[in-house]
Amino acid sequence: MSEEIDYLVCRNCESPCYVFEVDAKGTVASAFCSVCGADGPAEFRVPDLEELEPD
Ligand SMILES: [Zn+2]
Repeated sequence: MSEEIDYLVCRNCESPCYVFEVDAKGTVASAFCSVCGADGPAEFRVPDLEELEPD
């Protein structure tokens, strides 16, 4: 079981992106950054664990 991804980070502007789809393997299928307009899966990354707020 992998952790559920709450958001992606845009590689262009480092903004959190909440509009995205991830497939069953955790690979980004599609994403869109409303800040800079990036819309390619390769332009986003999953945030590092240390960036996540602990519950
Ligand atoms: Zn962006």
